[in-house]
Amino acid sequence: MRFDVISLFPDLLKEAFNYGITGRALQNKKVILNTFNPREFSQDQNSKVDDPPYGGGSGMVMQVEPMISAIQEAKKKSTNPYVILLSPQGKTFNQNKVEEFSKLDHLVLVCGRYEGLDQRIIDSEVDEECSVGEYILSGGEIPALTIMDSVTRVIEGVVGDPASIKYDTFSDGLLKYPQYTRPKTSQYGDVPEVLLSGDHKLIKRWRLKQSLLKTKKNRPELLNRRKFNSEEQELMEEINREQKT
Ligand code: SAM
Repeated sequence: MRFDVISLFPDLLKEAFNYGITGRALQNKKVILNTFNPREFSQDQNSKVDDPPYGGGSGMVMQVEPMISAIQEAKKKSTNPYVILLSPQGKTFNQNKVEEFSKLDHLVLVCGRYEGLDQRIIDSEVDEECSVGEYILSGGEIPALTIMDSVTRVIEGVVGDPASIKYDTFSDGLLKYPQYTRPKTSQYGDVPEVLLSGDHKLIKRWRLKQSLLKTKKNRPELLNRRKFNSEEQELMEEINREQKT
């Protein structure tokens, strides 16, 4: 996977990506990260890339020419680039999108700043607008890192144990069950007995029930659209009975 990011703050991206799993993915050449700073494409003697909006209003808007030149330069890095604009106006990014993007070879991620981009950049160069949530950040760099990190994790060979991805929250539409490690007992509570039983069938069922319970508590809408299998149905009935009493 190749990531090319258009940003006024390229060091922020390179620094933050270079840790842990994503840092190792870079070293192992599972991903390539490259940045393009629109200032370097500005014709202005002070490398200006923004101007006040036509029609009035507050703030500054990122100008067409430097942004489009930077995006076009990034697109040249492969024959099949896919351009994503990070924007609070985009569709909300989720794990299905992670899977979808991970199948592509080349993502060009465009980070806005100020009040956003001149619409002509979006109309002529952007394939998709992505939001990371219903709130406003000061720039697209953190959303771009969110996309790059989550996509990198699911690329084959990046995470040592593929099972850890398979059983992550959202991978099967449920939140992950609670986990415990040593010590068995502490002043903050004890590890549930079932996890120490060595009975893997029982542990699997307990974990599924905990996943259903946590999803019901924190994200009930995920259960509303779920098709339960017979074991899940049984456990949901058990949960509902227990919660009534
Ligand atoms: N004035 C814009 C609006 O009302 O939609 C918000 C501009 S915001 C201050 C500057 C940049 O941060 C945006 O162009 C975008 O690239 C990025 N950004 C802010 N919030 C975001 C979010 N929730 N998801 C993705 N990108 C976001």
